[in-house]
Amino acid sequence: MSHIDMRQFMCLEDNYGVIIHDSVTGATASIDAPDADAVEKQLKKFGRQLTHIFTTHHHADHVQGNAQLKEHYGCKIIGPKAEADKIPGIDIQVSGGEKFMWSNREIFVHDCPGHTLGHIAFSIPGEFSLFAGDTLFSVGCGRVIEGTLEQMFHSVNQFKTLSTSTYVYCGHEYTEANVKFALTIEPENKALQNRFHAVAAMRARGEMTCPTTIGEELKTNPYLRCDSPEIRKNLGMETATDAEVFAEIRTRKNNFK
Ligand SMILES: [Zn+2]
Repeated sequence: MSHIDMRQFMCLEDNYGVIIHDSVTGATASIDAPDADAVEKQLKKFGRQLTHIFTTHHHADHVQGNAQLKEHYGCKIIGPKAEADKIPGIDIQVSGGEKFMWSNREIFVHDCPGHTLGHIAFSIPGEFSLFAGDTLFSVGCGRVIEGTLEQMFHSVNQFKTLSTSTYVYCGHEYTEANVKFALTIEPENKALQNRFHAVAAMRARGEMTCPTTIGEELKTNPYLRCDSPEIRKNLGMETATDAEVFAEIRTRKNNFK
């Protein structure tokens, strides 16, 4: 099978853009469209014609490039059925549990209510890739804006079942702040300490800290580690459910400076 090339870049303040491209079929998709000019610059740089946009959710910093890109490339926009009325130019509506073919590959759709109610993620098992939008970040997760903490717990933790080799592409570069916060509730976690040093060095060099992997996140991401004895002890929640621990961590993060 042909290889899919993934190109990630920064745009706006801290958004990630990703362009995926199949050199055999020519199919080229932008994961969200935070900034049309930035996406077009990448397309031109590598001589690609945009055929699709995969939209994760309706926030402006994920869809504001849709109209311009559709006008310039005539690309098809695939996005969440549950918030289709808020996705500019949407052509194909999809929901969690569905899969569709793109460039001879199966793309799986995951429902991720919490950050927004209709938020979806896309995974390509054949490419060991997950496009998580603003649901799962490296060592973090998205802010719960429209849904409940309980919904977000399930949305984030569903990804534990993906292969540990899966690359996770996120909507934002928030890793440095996330690691600082995570260390306040699990300071003895060696993998987290290592990540702290690695991320600080990468950011000092101006490098992107994503994509991460599911394997790395299982070792360091507190929102996937609600069963960690150290976290539970530090929160005084030894007998709570994982969802309750998740809610406490997410609430503390909101107040973390
Ligand atoms: Zn968002």
